[in-house]
Amino acid sequence: MARFIGDGCIGCGACESTCPTDAISMAEDRFQVDPDVCIDCGVCEIGCPAGAISER
Ligand code: SF4
Ligand code: SF4
Repeated sequence: MARFIGDGCIGCGACESTCPTDAISMAEDRFQVDPDVCIDCGVCEIGCPAGAISER
């Protein structure tokens, strides 16, 4: 399982800088979670100001 960034993302970048495994990166003008790297810790979901991150 991995977290998923939805359409509500405002592109603030907070999740990218807080993810402990560097699973989040900008790809084709939007932030995405690499499911092979995400350990499902939930830190990004807690810190997202737009509530755009959820569990798949
Ligand atoms: S923290 Fe939320 S709003 Fe900010 S870039 Fe990540 S998903 Fe988008
Ligand atoms: S759940 Fe944890 S490991 Fe997965 S993208 Fe979010 S901060 Fe990174």
